[in-house]
Amino acid sequence: MRILNPYDEQGTWYRGSFHNHTNNSDGWFPLETVYKMYGDYDFLAISDHDKITNVEGKRKIPTVFEAIEVSSRKSHMLLVQPPHTMMENYTNEFTIDHYQKYADATLDHGGICVLVHPNRYFSNFWTLEDMMAMERYTGVEIYNGDGNIEYDIAFDKWDALLTAGRKVWGFGNDDSHVYGQEKQAWNMVLAEENTQEAILQAIKEGRFYVSTGFGFESIKCVGNKIIIDLKSNELLDKMYKYVTLFGSGGRVLHEVTGRTRHIEYECQGDEGYVRISAYIEGGYAAFSQPLFLEKD
Ligand SMILES: [Zn+2]
Ligand SMILES: [Zn+2]
Repeated sequence: MRILNPYDEQGTWYRGSFHNHTNNSDGWFPLETVYKMYGDYDFLAISDHDKITNVEGKRKIPTVFEAIEVSSRKSHMLLVQPPHTMMENYTNEFTIDHYQKYADATLDHGGICVLVHPNRYFSNFWTLEDMMAMERYTGVEIYNGDGNIEYDIAFDKWDALLTAGRKVWGFGNDDSHVYGQEKQAWNMVLAEENTQEAILQAIKEGRFYVSTGFGFESIKCVGNKIIIDLKSNELLDKMYKYVTLFGSGGRVLHEVTGRTRHIEYECQGDEGYVRISAYIEGGYAAFSQPLFLEKD
């Protein structure tokens, strides 16, 4: 058996969100206010509805990305680093072909494509059927912090896609529109350096995890064993943790609770994939990408 571990690389952890709005669409604040709200982030994308907002402006954030949220009346799709040519005769009409065309244009342009808030029940969700019909995209927004987190969590659809053999990464974003929505969910990216190219490259290779306040120090593989070190310091080590490893079908492979910071799991070979979710007292969490298992 072979375990494909995306975290098996050197680098620095960078924090950022790819899905945020300004008053160029339905956000409340101008770009410079949004930049201040995220002043300590390492990277940020501005993703207004159906518009590529110009990201030039006064800011402390080292790396910013142009983005767009293609926002039909049905499902929404986030494109980071989209080509400007897609704005010629732009429409947000929802058909799989039309969405795939924009996704392909962005991926071919070096960007990424994320199907966002798939479980938002009142509107703008994704059916699993449509997510399966889309052929090429980077990932799924598994945690959207737009104030509605009880239904903007999509582990069920992510597990269904992974179980069907789709290699799609999980993203966490604020989808911020107003004060109070900032810094609810973000991505910790293990990249060589903090540049657009290095961040996007790491994302495409799955070298990131989703955080709502907790984290991983490292995820390593030795032989058939997955070795997880949780974020650790004197305070965190005293707190209670709830760590679950999930495999194909969303089945629970292994669970550890207690004041732990180190977990080991011996793969049996039939897991399909292994993904890790770690909660700490208070509910803050970290969600890893899947480590796919390949049979020899
Ligand atoms: Zn949306
Ligand atoms: Zn949005």
